[in-house]
Amino acid sequence: MVSVDIEKDWNHLYIDGERRTPDRETIEVENPATREVIAEVPAGTAGDVDDAFAAAVEAQREWRNRPPQERAEVIQSVLHELHECEDEFAELLVREAGSTQLKAHVELEVLASGMLAETASFPTRSQGTKPESVIPGKENEVRREPAGVVGIISPWNVPFHLSMRAVAPAIALGNAVVLKPAEETSISGGLAIAELFEAAGLPEGLLNVVPGWGHEAGDALASHPDVDVVSFTGSTAVGREVAKNAVDNLALPALELGGNNAHVVLEDADLDRAVDAGVFGSFMHQGQICISINRHLVHESLYDEYVERMVERAAALEVGNPVDPEVDIGPVIKEEQRDKMLEFVRESANSGATVEIGGTADGLFVEPTVLSGVSNEMPAACNEHFGPIVPVIPFESTEEAIELANDTEMGLSGSVHGELEHARSVAERIETGMIHVNDQPINDEPHVPFGGDKASGIGRYNGEEIIREFTKQKWISVQHDEREY
Ligand code: NAD
Repeated sequence: MVSVDIEKDWNHLYIDGERRTPDRETIEVENPATREVIAEVPAGTAGDVDDAFAAAVEAQREWRNRPPQERAEVIQSVLHELHECEDEFAELLVREAGSTQLKAHVELEVLASGMLAETASFPTRSQGTKPESVIPGKENEVRREPAGVVGIISPWNVPFHLSMRAVAPAIALGNAVVLKPAEETSISGGLAIAELFEAAGLPEGLLNVVPGWGHEAGDALASHPDVDVVSFTGSTAVGREVAKNAVDNLALPALELGGNNAHVVLEDADLDRAVDAGVFGSFMHQGQICISINRHLVHESLYDEYVERMVERAAALEVGNPVDPEVDIGPVIKEEQRDKMLEFVRESANSGATVEIGGTADGLFVEPTVLSGVSNEMPAACNEHFGPIVPVIPFESTEEAIELANDTEMGLSGSVHGELEHARSVAERIETGMIHVNDQPINDEPHVPFGGDKASGIGRYNGEEIIREFTKQKWISVQHDEREY
């Protein structure tokens, strides 16, 4: 059985099926709840990234021609291996990423397992079309072929699923992979994934994991001449750099970037439901999800009561080390994140917002925070705060709510509460890739397109969309009859 025990020695790169331990600088992996160093991983270099690509290019030549059923079986085996070590994996997510038990459960059992089950069908799905020809006697076929080598760079917040949602489809579709996980979560977002694929019988060289710093290993990956698709999930600022590097090499960028998601509560909303959804959408994983609620836009007639209820609910949340299953709010990932979000709160208060509850932190444990009297221009609203923070903005009319929701460069997810037709018509006018009526914005289904508009990304994950991202089309025509030229 696979072991993903955090106590194991993780000080290696995984290249060409080998665990290589270079004699040089390491990156310390810290448990954000206790601040203990729990592991060390190598800081991969551009040279390591070269080695990983050499292995990937070589291995992909053979893999692309393997029977589809064989590729499907590898993905099914990965799912099986994951189920076998699920408890240990959940512990890894708790200790490495500061995940609560609920979030670890959702990440493993709902998101990753659902995605793997869907992905196992990719190799055997019909991936070609036969467009009729305009030329007599000609037969057309358009096939989908593997893109080649997919380079994947992933973030620390939902580390396992966000790496896996790119790795598994890429492999299933006949590609090879070079993966650079986030520095904070090199194990759950990278090296532990290699363990699962190795146990599932994936041939050597098809999945290579190079932990390392973004500006070094990440930059080398995105700029590599052998990368065919660069799949990047992370901040918009880094995404822009990564896209430039990819395009310089004529590689395709697939970008899943930041959000500034609005939770819109219309005057005809069911307040109980809007508050329940608002609490889940803001506080799940301490607000550190790209599709978390960043702003609550609430009609003035419901405003005071909404704020009051959010304060009550925030006060009742259990904050602490998420090894305790009763804990609702674990630590945020690092000091830099904590300082940034608290600064947004402070600056918003300086510009006239009221801190109803919270606004402070004990170590990396940020108190659930509710801000009232917020306007769209205040720092906690116009920036992606990525914290357990609820900025509540009042509005007078539906038109104003739509304008406020769209007044951001981001366009990832969102939610609208109200009478069905009313809320639905508002949802249609909000400029995001995803929007959820009478729900909250944290949704991901394995067969439904996931991704953002505007500065939130390019491309979509899941189902048919990821098949398009990780394959290229090839037109083969056969001229059956003699043709006059
Ligand atoms: P980040 O952009 O700082 O880092 C993401 C990854 O990029 C890491 O692996 C990092 O090492 C690497 N990186 C950093 N600099 C690089 C460079 N110059 N070249 C290549 N790679 C580089 O983001 P983060 O702080 O890890 O994650 C939080 C951000 O990710 C938030 O903005 C969040 O909204 C976004 N996110 C988006 C989605 C989505 O699906 N749209 C999902 C999760 C997170």
